[in-house]
Amino acid sequence: MQYDIIVVGAGHAGIEAALAGARLGKKTLLITMLVEQIGAASCNPAIGGLAKGHLVKELDALGGEMGLCTDATGIQFRILNDSKGAAVQGTRAQIDMDEYREYMRKICHNTPNLNIYQDEVTSLIVENDEVLGVKTKLGEEFKSKKTILTTGTFMRGLIHIGENTYEAGRAWELPSSTLSIQLKELGLNVGRLKTGTPSRLDANSIDFSVMDMHGGDIKPAPFSFRTDKKTFSPTQYPCYVTYTNLDTHDIISSNFHRAPIYTGQIQGSGPRYCPSIEDKVKRFSERERHQLFLEPQTSKCTEYYINGMSSSLPIEVQKRMIHSVKGLENARIIRYGYAIEYDYVDPTELKHSLETKKIKNLYNAGQINATTGYEEAAAQGLMASINASLAIDGKEPFILRRDEAYIGVLIDDLVTKGTQEPYRMFTSRAEYRLLLREENADIRLSGYGHKLGLLDDETFAKVEAKRKALEEAVEFMASTWITSKKETLELLESIGEEKINDKVLLIDLIGRNTIDIEKFDVLVPSLKELDEYLKNQIIIEAKYYRYIQKQQKQIEKMKKMLKLSIPDNFSYRGLPGLSNEVIEKLEKHRPPTLYNASLISGITPAALDIIHLNLNLVT
Ligand code: FAD
Repeated sequence: MQYDIIVVGAGHAGIEAALAGARLGKKTLLITMLVEQIGAASCNPAIGGLAKGHLVKELDALGGEMGLCTDATGIQFRILNDSKGAAVQGTRAQIDMDEYREYMRKICHNTPNLNIYQDEVTSLIVENDEVLGVKTKLGEEFKSKKTILTTGTFMRGLIHIGENTYEAGRAWELPSSTLSIQLKELGLNVGRLKTGTPSRLDANSIDFSVMDMHGGDIKPAPFSFRTDKKTFSPTQYPCYVTYTNLDTHDIISSNFHRAPIYTGQIQGSGPRYCPSIEDKVKRFSERERHQLFLEPQTSKCTEYYINGMSSSLPIEVQKRMIHSVKGLENARIIRYGYAIEYDYVDPTELKHSLETKKIKNLYNAGQINATTGYEEAAAQGLMASINASLAIDGKEPFILRRDEAYIGVLIDDLVTKGTQEPYRMFTSRAEYRLLLREENADIRLSGYGHKLGLLDDETFAKVEAKRKALEEAVEFMASTWITSKKETLELLESIGEEKINDKVLLIDLIGRNTIDIEKFDVLVPSLKELDEYLKNQIIIEAKYYRYIQKQQKQIEKMKKMLKLSIPDNFSYRGLPGLSNEVIEKLEKHRPPTLYNASLISGITPAALDIIHLNLNLVT
């Protein structure tokens, strides 16, 4: 059977890849090991968070599904960092894991052009360094123009619990045993990484009365710009907070010799920012306690996830350490925590389109590219599929720049720098984070989603109307002077605002940290009737106005810089600050412009600056 696109794996990357391909009119086949597990959350029952929320909103603006699914199946919504600036806030939702899977599976089954098939892909059909399709364990062969691998933690997955190990892609799910061996034979750089997950407990055996309750936001905000904010009112389930103590730490530290991450049993590097409890106790031995969040996994069942207690210690040790925690003395364990090692493909093997450089028509997305997290995976899945579709249509790839989207930062980091450990997104990775805010993701990116064909006209028209209203408001505020006449000073005093000297632009007045919607209504009565969410966004724009202008100038400078030609005989040797590795790459590729240089893996923004500086000296 001939397909346009075959997607291998139906995790978070695979779903977005399959849906986008089919929605772009490509005959798509989604092959996965277990159809029931489409959209399974391997670890924590939550979507979003700091920087990850940005990824979900950007994915949503491009026409992805994760935001809509989270809005439909979320059971607690919170804005993290809500006391800080809008640029570093992150939307996070606990999800009902069962409903999440059900929703995604239903969407996949009901999307035209998308077929689903349950089997294991054991190898790729490759001729002359070009993928022509896949072969499966049951002996099926499927042909395709493009193949997208989204195998997650499944390639040669090996689970560790204390001294016990077993081969699996996730607890008790079969691993993908042969695919990564073939990828290696094809010349791709295949490595090994590790991640871990905590135990799950039965809520009926937890004493929540001694823990702090952690509720959702009073006014929950949805992820998707397509979800109606005014009617959005999900049932919010509480989480609970408890702590480890010195007894817990004693139990753990007296068993370090049985912890696979210390005995040499685990070879792969784990996610630095998501360490196991044994790692936390070892690295921060001065700490007397570590915070644990108990999070519901579903609304109907009683399983709770212990966020902060990921472990691969032997089960009897896990049991003792859990029972040492306040409120968990009698906790019944439904599933034990474990660590998993798996094969990944070095992401510097990829172009910015996520196609591999060595094997034509083969794209990789998700955890296979050494990332960690559902959101990072989903974003890559969508981008790989968009690019596969564009390539089928003979069009240029769709590449988001670092100043346009966190997705651009994610992919650029992966394919140019690579990573030695599971890569997760942080706001600090984005140079232009004041521009790349969660709340303006729709305005930043829905134009692309619409142009690509993933967002309909009606949806896009709504964003355009919002963009226009926002631009008009900013323009008005940036051109309206407020003088220190008597009425103005009285008005400011009446709302508890400091006086102004002489005159100030309205945008700078609204940009004060103390301005909220009520004060905005008093100071800008002509915009009082606008929608509350829009007013909020106007206030944010005002707060960042000066910084945004500065960042935009930097971006313009960078764009101009990237257009600069590099003479063919330009000598990179001896330029201070360039490593030998960078020089060798530049000499090998001889990029005609700085932009082309920026696309070479390992050529960092700092290296570009050095070349730029020296180009200016010779020209
Ligand atoms: P997955 O969600 O793993 O999906 C892979 C899919 O591919 C599955 O459907 C599988 O059946 C299918 N598949 C694989 N091979 C084949 C094949 N050969 N043929 C057919 N189908 C195939 N992320 C965090 O952010 N924080 C954490 O703390 C964290 N801890 C984790 C702990 C564990 C134990 C695990 C397993 C994962 C953890 N993750 C964590 C990672 C998170 O689950 C992944 O980042 C995310 O699910 C990756 O999405 P994906 O689509 O790339 O792969």
